[in-house]
Amino acid sequence: MNKKAFFSFVVLAVVLAAVPLVVTNPYYLHLIETILIYAVLLLGLDIVVGYTGQVSLGHAGLFGIGAYTVGTLILHLSLPFWLAIPAAIIVTSIFGAILALPSLRVTGPYLAMVTLAFGTIIQILINEMDFLTDGPMGISLDKPMIGDHMMTGPQFFWMVLAFLVLSVLFTERVAKSHYGRAFEALRDSPIACDCMGVSVYRYKVVAFVISAGLAGLSGALHAYSEQYISPNTYTFELMVLFLLAIIMGGRKTRSGALLGAAIIVLLPKMLDDVSTFRPLAIGLAVIVMVGSTWAVRQGRATWRRMAAPVAGALLLAVGSLVLEQMTDWRLSIFGLMILFVVYYLPDGIVGFVTQFWSRHKKDTSPVTISSEYISQIGHEPDASHGVLLSVSQAIMQFGGLRALNEVDLEVRRGTVHGLIGPNGSGKSTMMNVLTGIYVPTSGSVVFAGKDLAGLTSSEIAARGVARTFQNVQLFGEMSALENVLVGLHHTFTSQLSSVALHLPLWRREENTARARAYALLDFVGLASLAHEEARNLPYGKQRLLEIARALALDPQLLLLDEPAAGLTAPDIVELLAIIRKIKDRGLTVILIEHHMDVVMGVCDAVSVLDFGQKIAEGLPQDVQADPRVVEAYLGGEQAGAQAC
Ligand code: ADP
Ligand code: MG
Repeated sequence: MNKKAFFSFVVLAVVLAAVPLVVTNPYYLHLIETILIYAVLLLGLDIVVGYTGQVSLGHAGLFGIGAYTVGTLILHLSLPFWLAIPAAIIVTSIFGAILALPSLRVTGPYLAMVTLAFGTIIQILINEMDFLTDGPMGISLDKPMIGDHMMTGPQFFWMVLAFLVLSVLFTERVAKSHYGRAFEALRDSPIACDCMGVSVYRYKVVAFVISAGLAGLSGALHAYSEQYISPNTYTFELMVLFLLAIIMGGRKTRSGALLGAAIIVLLPKMLDDVSTFRPLAIGLAVIVMVGSTWAVRQGRATWRRMAAPVAGALLLAVGSLVLEQMTDWRLSIFGLMILFVVYYLPDGIVGFVTQFWSRHKKDTSPVTISSEYISQIGHEPDASHGVLLSVSQAIMQFGGLRALNEVDLEVRRGTVHGLIGPNGSGKSTMMNVLTGIYVPTSGSVVFAGKDLAGLTSSEIAARGVARTFQNVQLFGEMSALENVLVGLHHTFTSQLSSVALHLPLWRREENTARARAYALLDFVGLASLAHEEARNLPYGKQRLLEIARALALDPQLLLLDEPAAGLTAPDIVELLAIIRKIKDRGLTVILIEHHMDVVMGVCDAVSVLDFGQKIAEGLPQDVQADPRVVEAYLGGEQAGAQAC
C-alpha cells in the first residue's frame, strides 16, 4: 500500500470507528456492520477470483460453515467467542482445501459447476444434520460475552471493525508479496508459472485456504451479528451477490471489496425506499459529473472515456425521479445497473477510477541497479565441458503420431547447443519433455547426473532448468519487474506469517529480490520498462523479458524456443548479444532457431530433427553443409529453406 492509500485507509477506519457514536439507530448500525462483515469475505473471495482467476460459487457455503461452526460450538459446548471464532476459521480453512481440489483439475465453467455443487451440498448438510445444527429450526445465539457482561451493539461493531482492519492488512500484505505474485502468475499462465518453479497445484490450494479462512471469519461474525442462523441464509443467491460485489467494486483492490460490500448491502435497500434512494442517486450523479469535468480538465481523461459513467449516473438520477411510478421495476433496475457496470467498467468501479487517477503517477520508485547482483547472474564458466544433459532414446507418442522417435541428445556444460529442423519436426516437443510438461512415452532424461523421470515441471525448474516459450507466456497483467520476481520466487523462504507481520526476514528477501530483478531487467536492457505491464510491451521486448524471467531462476540450463521468431532485424542483433552474454556467464543453452545466422553466430554444436528423428549432429558449419539437412529443409517447407 502506498502512503496515500494507507492514509485514506486509516481515515476510513477512524470514521468507521466513530460510526456507533453517531449512528444510534440499531437498524442502521446493523446495516453498516453487515457491510463490514461481507467485506471480510469479499477480501478473501477476491484472492481466489481476482488474483488466481478461479471461479468459485462455493464461498456462500464456506460462509455458512463459519457461521455454523460458531453456532454448533455455542449450542453444544457453550464455547466463548475467542475460541469459537478461531475454530470457525480453522474448520472453514480445511473445507477451503477441499474446495480447492476440483480447481486443480478443471477451470472455467466446469469449476463453477463443481463449486456450485459444493455450496449446495453444504446447505443441504446443514439442513439435514439435525443432531448437530438443529436443522431448519436454526440456532439462536447471544452476542459475545466479555467477562460476565454481554457485548453491546457498539462494542460488537468495534470488534467487527477490528477484524476487518486486520483482514485488510493481511490480504494487502499477502497480495503484495511473493504469494500474491504466485497467485497472479498461475492465473495468467499456469504453464509458465510451473516452469518458474512456482507450483500451480500448491498455490491454488494456498489461495483457497486463505480465502476460506476469511469466509469462515466473516460467517462467524455474521452469526454473532444476526444472533440467529438458519440454513436458508447460505443460498446460491447470496453467492451471486458476493460475485457481483467483486465485479462491481473491482478486482485486486481492498477498496473494491469494501465498495462492493456496500453496494450489495445498501443498493437493494435503497431501491426499496425512494426517499433515500433519490437524493443518493442525484448526489452520485453530481459527484460523477464534477469528477469527470475535473478529470477531463486535468487532462487525465477524455469525455469519450467518461461517457459511460456519466450516462449511467444521469440515468440513475432520472430513474430515481420516476421510480415511484414503477415499483415493480426495482429489481430490474438493479439488474440493469449490474449489467452496465460489467459491460462498461470491466475493472469495476474502483478499477475505473484509479485508472485515470493514477495515470501520471506510475510506480517510479528509484531504480538502483546494483552491480553486485549483475555479477551474480550465471555461474563460473565450466571449462571441463562435461555432459550436463543427456537424453536417450526419447519417444513421445501422440495417438498415431510420433513427435519424437528414439531421439538421443547430449548437451555439454557451458555450450550453446542448437536444435533445428523444419516446422513440426518435434523441437518444441523436446523442450516440453525436458521441462516435464510432457511425460515421454519412453526413454530417459538425465540432468546434472540425476534422472528427471517422475518430476513435475516446478521440481525440474527448481533443479535448474529454465525456459522461454515459442508462444510468449508472460504474466500479462503483471509488470515486467513482477514477472522477473516470479522467477525469483525460489529465493524466498519466508512463510505466510512473516509476510503478514512484515517480519525483517521477509523485508530483506523482498528487497534483495527486487534489486536482483532490476539487475536482470538491466541485463536484457529492459530496466527502463520495469513498471510497464508485460502485455503492453512490444513483442521483441516481451521475448527479452521472458529471458530475464528465466534467468531469475538462476538455472544451469536455459532452453530458448525460437527466441528470434517475429523479431525485427535490430531486435535480433540485440538478442544475439544477450545470448552471447549468457554464454559468457557460464550458462548452458539449448537454442531452437530458424534464423540460420543466429544459429551460426552463437552455437557450439547443432542437432537437427526431422519428423521426430535426429538426422544430423555436429559443428554448425558441418551440419549446414550436410546433404540430409538440406534435403529435410528443401523437401519440407519452402519457408524453412528460406529461413536457412
Ligand atoms: P516444432 O517445434 O519442431 O515445430 P512441435 O514439437 O511443436 O514441432 O510438434 C511436433 C509434432 O507433434 C507436430 O506434428 C505437432 O502437431 C505434434 N504435437 C505437439 N504437441 C502435441 C500434442 N500435445 N498433442 C498432439 N500432437 C502434438
Ligand atoms: Mg516449435
